[in-house]
Amino acid sequence: MAAATTFRDRLWIGGEFVDARSERRRPTVDPATGRVLAEVADGDEQDVDRAVAAARAAFADRRWAGRAPAARKKVLLRLADLIRANADELAVLDSLDAGKLIADTSAVDVPGTAAILQWYAETADKTYGEIAPTGSGDLALVSREPLGVVAAVVPWNYPLEMAMWKLAPALVTGNAVVLKPAEESPLSALRLAELADQAGLPPGVLNVVTGDGPVAGKALGLHPDVDAVTFTGSTPVGKLFLEYAGRSNMKQVWLECGGKSANVVLDCNADLDAVANGVCFGIFTNAGQVCSANSRLVVHRSVKDELLAEVVKRAAKIRPGDPLDPATVMGPLVSERQADRVREYIEIGRGEGLLRLGDDAVDGAPTTAYVGPAVFDDVPPTARIAREEIFGPVLAVIGVDSEEEAVAVANDSPFGLAASVWSDDLRQAHRVAGLLRAGTVSVNTVDALDVTTPFGGFGQSGFGRDLSLHAMEKFTALKTTWVKYG
Ligand code: NAD
Repeated sequence: MAAATTFRDRLWIGGEFVDARSERRRPTVDPATGRVLAEVADGDEQDVDRAVAAARAAFADRRWAGRAPAARKKVLLRLADLIRANADELAVLDSLDAGKLIADTSAVDVPGTAAILQWYAETADKTYGEIAPTGSGDLALVSREPLGVVAAVVPWNYPLEMAMWKLAPALVTGNAVVLKPAEESPLSALRLAELADQAGLPPGVLNVVTGDGPVAGKALGLHPDVDAVTFTGSTPVGKLFLEYAGRSNMKQVWLECGGKSANVVLDCNADLDAVANGVCFGIFTNAGQVCSANSRLVVHRSVKDELLAEVVKRAAKIRPGDPLDPATVMGPLVSERQADRVREYIEIGRGEGLLRLGDDAVDGAPTTAYVGPAVFDDVPPTARIAREEIFGPVLAVIGVDSEEEAVAVANDSPFGLAASVWSDDLRQAHRVAGLLRAGTVSVNTVDALDVTTPFGGFGQSGFGRDLSLHAMEKFTALKTTWVKYG
């Protein structure tokens, strides 16, 4: 695999790389080795102003929104091709910057990013307006209009893919975008902007401001000329964006926030081998840094011990290692700071449940960002490790005695992003799925997801949906045009 040799390390504004006005830079670190990969421009309020102005100018003169939908489609499809053509580099960038497995970035994240863009691009000339059945004899046309300037603020767990979840529907509908990647993982977004330029996206339609969340992210949230913010990240920061909007121009805010998803295993004859694999996949993929991670196993006591033994057996074999080795199944967490946070939760968990697996030190690890799988049994539903999002490979197992209790425990959460239910009785599985308060419920699998299906949550997991045609509703407003005859 070709390693990326040149890192783009400046802001992308108005179709070119520029330094931050302050000329400040911040290091972006490879969590696997502790090496500083690049000193990246540290954008602040002045840079956000510049980027928003560039986006506004691009939107106002209709250099993108005014193009025929088929022409916009062509540019976006070209970008999807360029992502594929540069797949190795993009995969390496996200692996280095965020400690993600190269096996995942090259097989899942990058191809997924291109596929999502292609899917949205293809909708450009296949979506229609409406004629309202007013019965008045006059004509009422209902069209979808782009909002204008959209700010996309994204996290580090799937840097390129999360960005594309926002960019593709925002761009295909004619908006201009300012993207703010996470501090921890800015590199792939900057390369993506350059590829978009190469694909023919007009200058100013996509801008990337790297920088600190509480500075650059906040400036976007408060900016009077941003029409909408689409955010993926933690619930506390999601709440801040609501405040920013209220304190500024009442911009629309769409939030995909945290989760504490329940994996519900009922008293059934489900194939425990498959369930154990699903449980491990659900919590240990991406080292547990997945918003929809199935971090709670809510399991009927009739099958709990047998299932748990299988889960622990599998988890014990997972040794965190070098993310650039294609054989590695778990890499480091995104940063030593995040790993400390997860270790803190493991300490908290020791006082709340029974630690069946999980040790702090990973032998021979070059940094402290590596945390192995941890499994806690007998966790009360009220425990902090059962209620708070940990964002690491930590599983809380909660035993229940009935279907009703399983549903009550699963739903007793401030979050409502995803859930799974396992049963060999599809009638039972369907009944329970209907009762679970979650944006996505996977039956006899975990974390099912597709570009064609909406993704988002209930409660403090946020609102608005990414993916599917529904995501386009967030980036457009309905407009009615009346035409009077006679
Ligand atoms: P985070 O909330 O700390 O940061 C997300 C983004 O917000 C980053 O770009 C960051 O720079 C910015 N930000 C941080 N503080 C800010 C502030 N004060 N004002 C404005 N912007 C600010 O989240 P994270 O640690 O990068 O990512 C992990 C979180 O993201 C987890 O809670 C996870 O559940 C969530 N997540 C959710 C989804 C989903 O679709 N629901 C997907 C992935 C991750």
